Amino acid sequence: MIQIDEEKIHSTINEKKPRSVALDGPDGILRKIQSCAHRLSEKYQIPVYVIGDTSWGSCDLNIHAAETLGVDILFNIGHTIAMEKFGDKVVMIDAFDDIDFGKIAKICAIELKKNFNKISLVTNSQYLQSVQKVKEIFEYHGYEVVIGRGKGHLNDAQVFGCEFYPAYDSKDMVDAYIFLGQSIFHSTSIAIVTQKPTFMLDPYFNEFSEINDIAQKLEKKAILSVFKAQDAKTIGIIIGLKEGQFAKIKALELKRLLEEEGKKILLIAMTEITDERLLSFQDIDAFVQVACPRIGTDNHFHKPVLSVPQAISLIKLLKGESPEGFLQIKHWL
Ligand code: SF4
Repeated sequence: MIQIDEEKIHSTINEKKPRSVALDGPDGILRKIQSCAHRLSEKYQIPVYVIGDTSWGSCDLNIHAAETLGVDILFNIGHTIAMEKFGDKVVMIDAFDDIDFGKIAKICAIELKKNFNKISLVTNSQYLQSVQKVKEIFEYHGYEVVIGRGKGHLNDAQVFGCEFYPAYDSKDMVDAYIFLGQSIFHSTSIAIVTQKPTFMLDPYFNEFSEINDIAQKLEKKAILSVFKAQDAKTIGIIIGLKEGQFAKIKALELKRLLEEEGKKILLIAMTEITDERLLSFQDIDAFVQVACPRIGTDNHFHKPVLSVPQAISLIKLLKGESPEGFLQIKHWL
């Protein structure tokens, strides 16, 4: 069950005495956030707003919404990162899932032992507190277990959907990766970046599965989009307006590079990049978006929608260079 660190919310409110606060977080814990909002507004008798827009990651905190609402504090719940605060307004609140990995970790450790000796454990924010226990189980069964070092916003063993330092930096030391949790979104990217066997440990169904085939399909889709974009005459470069995804300078750099290769460019700015919105841009043949690198790979679009590494790969292709290996990097930005 997800446990929100409400104590930190209370101690922050008691210390700072805000006149109003806002809460946001990923969709998966929105019900918990709503209950928390009821408790806070009852206890402190101040307006407590739940921001209903998406908050996909620590790149997507809805600071602009908090400023428009005029709240003194925005509690962003569930995106555990190595930083506790963003500026004066945002306080990061941890939310951990306390499900027990013991049973499935033991099954996985026994079954994989015939093929692997050195493994690395990785996970997303929700299961970070389970890493040590799973490490001990694998070590008990004779494995050497590497925990990759965190960097920037990432804690040790943690990955985002676009940032993989703990996994990437340990790839030459291990035979395989074990991802704690049910996230195909995160585990496939580890398989793509490291090109190593990657297993997902699901503590709810007590099963583990290798996800390299799914990862390969995702990678092929990303490569295919680059080749499709090759013939585009006009390319729309989209600047995402979410504060942590705003990359205008990168957009202008890509505009220059693509214009040098003969492409006509239209600069577009938008907050939510969806197929429905892009269909309105009928004269554009392909898009490059500099916001979240997973938008094009993990969603359906009628026209190619490239991320920054895909766009760089496209430029190489247009120059007659080999476009390969563009996803085997530490950070897909
Ligand atoms: S994958 Fe996208 S949503 Fe997740 S942290 Fe990266 S930019 Fe943000």
